[in-house]
Amino acid sequence: MPDTVVPIGPRSAIDSKLPYTALKPGEVALVGAGPGDPELLTIKALNMLRQAEVILYDYLVSDEILSLVSSDAILVCVGKRAGAHSVPQHKTNQLLVDFAKQGYRVARIKGGDPFVFGRGAEELEVLVDNGIGFQVIPGITAASGATAYAGIPLTHRDYAQTAMFVTGHLKDEDSTVDWSTLARKNQTLVIYMGLMKSSIIEQQLTQYGRSEDTPIAIIERGTQASQKVIYGRLSQLSELSTQAASPALIVVGEVVALGKKLAWFDTETAETKNAQAKLSGQ
Ligand code: SAH
Repeated sequence: MPDTVVPIGPRSAIDSKLPYTALKPGEVALVGAGPGDPELLTIKALNMLRQAEVILYDYLVSDEILSLVSSDAILVCVGKRAGAHSVPQHKTNQLLVDFAKQGYRVARIKGGDPFVFGRGAEELEVLVDNGIGFQVIPGITAASGATAYAGIPLTHRDYAQTAMFVTGHLKDEDSTVDWSTLARKNQTLVIYMGLMKSSIIEQQLTQYGRSEDTPIAIIERGTQASQKVIYGRLSQLSELSTQAASPALIVVGEVVALGKKLAWFDTETAETKNAQAKLSGQ
C-alpha cells in the first residue's frame, strides 16, 4: 500500500482519533450544512449538530441532514418550507439569543456556507451585542458543490482564470453592480438567486461584452438526488430560467461546456441510496 493511503479502520477508531470540539451550554454554533447531500457535511458540522440541544434551520437544509441531529433536540424552522411563512430576521435573532441565554447548546444551521449570501454575519453581530459566545463552521457553498456534481470546474487553465460569485437579488437600476466586471471574458460567473432576474442578467452581460454564445448552465437542487442541470447559451438564459425552480444556480462561462463531458453524478443511484437509508432507519 502506498504511504499516502491511510487505512481508516472501524468507525470508532476514526472517532477517537479526532480532536472533537465541544459546544458549550449557552453557546451558538453557526453551521454550514452544504448544498444538500448529507455526505458533504463536514465532520465538525456533524459533531456540532449531534451536540446541539436546539437547532434553528431554514428551508435550504435537506431532510436527510435534519435526520442526523440528536433525537432529543428541539428543531425550530425559521425559513420558508412547503408554503409556511418565513420568520422575520429579527425574530430569528431573538430566538438565538433567548435559547442561548437559557443555557441551551444551540446550532444555527444554514444551507451551503453561512457566510456566503447567508446573513450569517448579521446573526453573529446580535450575539456579540448580547455577550453570547459562538463558533462558525464553514460549509461547502452551492457554487462549489453544485458545479462539482455537475462536472463543471469553476476554473480551468484554458478557459477561466477567475471565478466570481454574485447574488441575483439586484435592483433593476442597481448602480452598485459593475456589469463590465461581471461580463469579463475568461471568467466563470456563478449567480445565486438569479432566476427572477435572469432577463436583466442576460441583457446586461451581453451589453457589456459577454458573447451571446457563452455556454450557461442552470443547476437546480445541486448535489441532491433530484439534481437537474439545464444547458444552453447566454442568449437563452431568461427563456431557460422559466423551466427551472429554486434553489438553482446560474453558471456562465466556457467551463460549462466541460460539464457534458465530465458529468458523473448519477441521480438514480443517489435516490436508491436515500431510499435504502430511510428503510434501514439510518
Ligand atoms: N449560504 C448558501 C447560499 C444561500 S442563498 C450557500 O453558501 O450555498 C440561496 C441560494 O443559493 C439559492 O437561491 C440558490 O441560488 C443557491 N443554492 C443553495 N443551495 C443550492 C443547491 N443545492 N443547488 C443550487 N443552488 C443552490
